[in-house]
Amino acid sequence: MDPDTPRLPFQATRTALAAQLAELDGLLPGSVLVRHMRCGKRRCACKDDPPTLHGPYIQWTRTVAGKTVTRYLSPEQLDRYQPWFDNARRAKDLVAKLETASLHALEQHEGPNR
Ligand SMILES: [Zn+2]
Repeated sequence: MDPDTPRLPFQATRTALAAQLAELDGLLPGSVLVRHMRCGKRRCACKDDPPTLHGPYIQWTRTVAGKTVTRYLSPEQLDRYQPWFDNARRAKDLVAKLETASLHALEQHEGPNR
């Protein structure tokens, strides 16, 4: 930070949040749905009682240019990329907190809106 810049409120909080954001080295957007399903065959283990369902089908869905894009992942792939899905949620949370701290800093430093 420029040493001539006045120190704004909540500096320690904002620095800590920014440092946590900087630690996230991978992010994947969208959501993951794990499904076990029955098929259309009349005689299949998925119709047994108790049933042995097909799957897991791991469906990763995200939006690209307004369109939904789906990709299926293997259980191994989900294990590999789960931290990046978790990081995306964490990034959203950290950005929201950083916004709040920044808004409070502005209001405290600049005074009430006139
Ligand atoms: Zn089946």
